[in-house]
Amino acid sequence: MTTEALVHFAVRGALWTLLAAAWAAACLWVERDAHEIFGRSRFWKGIVTLCGVVFFVATCLGGFGWLPELLPLVPLAVVSYLLAREAHAAPEDLLARRAARGLGIEAHVERFLPPIGGRPAVAKAAVQIVLLKKNGQPYDGRDEGDLDRETSTAIRSVQGILLTALQMRATDIHMEPKAGDEMQIRYRIDGIMQTISTLNGAMGRAVVSATKVLGDMDIAERRLPQDGTFAALFEGRKYDIRAASGPTSFGEKMSLRLLDSDGGIVKAGLDGIGMRESMLKTLRAIINQPDGMLIVCGPTGSGKTTTLYSAISEIDVLSRNILTIEDPIEYRLENISQTAVNTAAGLTFAKILRSVLRQDPDVILVGEIRDKETAEIAMEAAVTGHFVFSTLHSNDTATTVTRLLDMGIEATRIQAAVTAVLGQRLLRVLCPKCKQAYKPAPEDLRRYGIPADRATVFYRENDKGCPECNGTGFRGRTGIYELMVFDKGVRDLLIGRPSIEDLRAAARRAGMRTLRESALMKVVEGVTSLSECARVAK
Ligand SMILES: [Zn+2]
Repeated sequence: MTTEALVHFAVRGALWTLLAAAWAAACLWVERDAHEIFGRSRFWKGIVTLCGVVFFVATCLGGFGWLPELLPLVPLAVVSYLLAREAHAAPEDLLARRAARGLGIEAHVERFLPPIGGRPAVAKAAVQIVLLKKNGQPYDGRDEGDLDRETSTAIRSVQGILLTALQMRATDIHMEPKAGDEMQIRYRIDGIMQTISTLNGAMGRAVVSATKVLGDMDIAERRLPQDGTFAALFEGRKYDIRAASGPTSFGEKMSLRLLDSDGGIVKAGLDGIGMRESMLKTLRAIINQPDGMLIVCGPTGSGKTTTLYSAISEIDVLSRNILTIEDPIEYRLENISQTAVNTAAGLTFAKILRSVLRQDPDVILVGEIRDKETAEIAMEAAVTGHFVFSTLHSNDTATTVTRLLDMGIEATRIQAAVTAVLGQRLLRVLCPKCKQAYKPAPEDLRRYGIPADRATVFYRENDKGCPECNGTGFRGRTGIYELMVFDKGVRDLLIGRPSIEDLRAAARRAGMRTLRESALMKVVEGVTSLSECARVAK
């Protein structure tokens, strides 16, 4: 063999080795990347591998002579993969786009997403939202050795789902398996459930599993209800997320409650809850009394907790010792000692309340009155130099009083302890950008008892909505209230087992406006529509 041939052979050999290394690297990258982008990798990994095998076998057989003609094979396969990849956005982009399209707000959501065909948004969603496990450790599913790749991809989908939810001001996310191997994703926005997207079954199950990893829940257990907590940082705020899973006939569902735990909404105090000036004045006078009890009532999701925290945030924490008992702690308040109920550990409202009373409190918040024992200890505290705040799950102020009597609490005890009962609901506020003015019909005004001269223009929601309100016609919520002050008239009634109607009549004589009247005032003010008023305050 001549020297020239030897050099020729060495150069070809080196080139061949380099190409083999590049091919192997391309195969590995395509496998990994296709798994993240498409959720599966077999097809594209197969194409790239096959092209390489054809090239190397052919060059070997042909004594390296065919090399130039077949050289573009592998690069072509990789370029084809890149094109397919660009055409297919990341799963969370797809989800957000599909959701936005469903709501007709694509243009609004689009600005958060990369252009179609641009780079996948995995990194972008990860930058905008940071998930924290219960111990406060940031978690993106990347550096966990014990996670398979499918789970870490799913965690990024969870990031996308949470990011979209927070951007749309959702308070709850529900992932529900449906017939036909699908998973429906719904958000609760301003109190109303909206279907956002439907995932295929496999993706849906992966997302539920990823959420369970985040919430420190048992991934293998799918038949028993479980709960867990984790948190998300978004736009400089920390959101505590309570996760609850449970079985359905189509598989495991998951619901997430998003709590703005930094308490952004309660920091504004009572001025931010939508209460009219005269009632606000009365309420402030009540909560600044040295003893007594304020019970806030309403159904689940009527804003009771927000009102209580707003009230407490107005009390001077430096001169008064405030203690709370909650289930769970929804907002963190500065300079206030908060204790969580833990029924499994025997720490019930009643038990904690007894020990809290030994800590010399001035003001006590008892998250909820659920039983006679809690009610009685709370009322005892209210007549022995403490001001007690609490909530009761009931429709309105008059029913709250009869509920307490039905629990078996003595009328004299209620008379002595309770200062006032506040009933409330949340009304959706019309979107200021797209609400529509109209002249109310005289028969409508008569039906609702509104004087014609007080209401020349009403507003109603725009059915199509606009980008500002996610296409719903409403943006945000405000409270409507009825405040039953326990004056002599109401107190005297308690002894004779009063009916709901008697109680209501007595409170009205003392100047109470009902929830419905409070809602109609919001209609007259143009804050909400008649239909929303009818939905909330029947
Ligand atoms: Zn609008």
